[in-house]
Amino acid sequence: MMNRLRPRIGILGAGQLALMLAQAGAALDVEVICAGQPGDCAEQVAEVMSVDLDDAEEVAGFAAQVDLVTIESENIHADVLQGLNLYPNVRAIGIAQDRLLEKRFFHECGIGTAPFAYVDRVEDFKRAIEVTGLPAILKTRRMGYDGKGQVRLRDLADAAAAWDEVGGVPCILEGMVRFDAEVSLIAARGRTGSIVFYPLIKNQHSEGILRTSTAPFVDAKLQQLAEKYLVVLLEKLDYVGVLAVEFFVVGDNLLANEMAPRVHNSGHWTIEGSETSQFENHLRAIAGMELGSTDSRPMVMLNCIGSMPAEYETAAFPQVFRHGYGKEPRPGRKVGHLTLPAAESMAVAEWQKRLQG
Ligand code: AMP
Repeated sequence: MMNRLRPRIGILGAGQLALMLAQAGAALDVEVICAGQPGDCAEQVAEVMSVDLDDAEEVAGFAAQVDLVTIESENIHADVLQGLNLYPNVRAIGIAQDRLLEKRFFHECGIGTAPFAYVDRVEDFKRAIEVTGLPAILKTRRMGYDGKGQVRLRDLADAAAAWDEVGGVPCILEGMVRFDAEVSLIAARGRTGSIVFYPLIKNQHSEGILRTSTAPFVDAKLQQLAEKYLVVLLEKLDYVGVLAVEFFVVGDNLLANEMAPRVHNSGHWTIEGSETSQFENHLRAIAGMELGSTDSRPMVMLNCIGSMPAEYETAAFPQVFRHGYGKEPRPGRKVGHLTLPAAESMAVAEWQKRLQG
């Protein structure tokens, strides 16, 4: 039975998304406990129980100690998630963790994507390229993030090397989209079916890793179209919690790239930029509370990849909100982010230059 006064929410994972969910939980008077490993970064603010997330019995043991369970990463095997009091539900997570199922689901919902075809064997490339055209991008169906498990192909002759590079696992091949911009829409759906949306966010990636998110991306027609698409996805999945969908903007159209059944890196600016952050709204949704207002002011979020700037450097910029995740510096690793009001354009440009060369 859920303790209505102070629900205990268990998060599978204890990385930076769990850390920021736990911070939001403290303000909401929700108890957040994470399943991870000693030293994971959420330990700074929440209890982290040592749980092997590949082990169904250990995960079930953790789930038995909380009122409900949520995830911070979709890369947990759906078998381990069966039978848990889980939000969002296992079907939504199962679709989002497999690029082929995800793309097919977008089409079922009337949402366009890049042309795609499955590749299960090296012999499949010829047929796949007939669908996607060239250049194309090979992506592992599962376990890809931050551009990992992705290889670009210029022609059929690249196929064998690309197949080796991804380790010969089931993949999809996608046609390269010549997009005008990349955007994401984040929504939260509550247990009663109410939905709130944040404004569209413009995202800039480099080497497959998100570098900058700027909100809002102002385009009333695209905002309306993206909201229409998310309503279909959320309702078809009977989804509860925060859902983020990444789109390519092509003219007046949106092509869905992928969805994340969780709080999303492109929404970190909502901590300072919105009346209710994505983290708080996720907890509100899954705990059965009323959703909070998403009224927002223009913000820019810059990821810190590899290392955090020194404290004295950010301290010289009073407009900068600093979020270090307490992770060991390592090339290519997201170790924190900075958020700035978009109106502080000089500071934004300065920090973009410092962080992204
Ligand atoms: P993903 O992991 O699928 O989000 O891909 C990471 C990044 O690679 C995207 O944000 C795009 O910048 C780029 N990308 C992925 N798929 C495509 C595509 N089909 N066409 C063009 N760019 C792509």
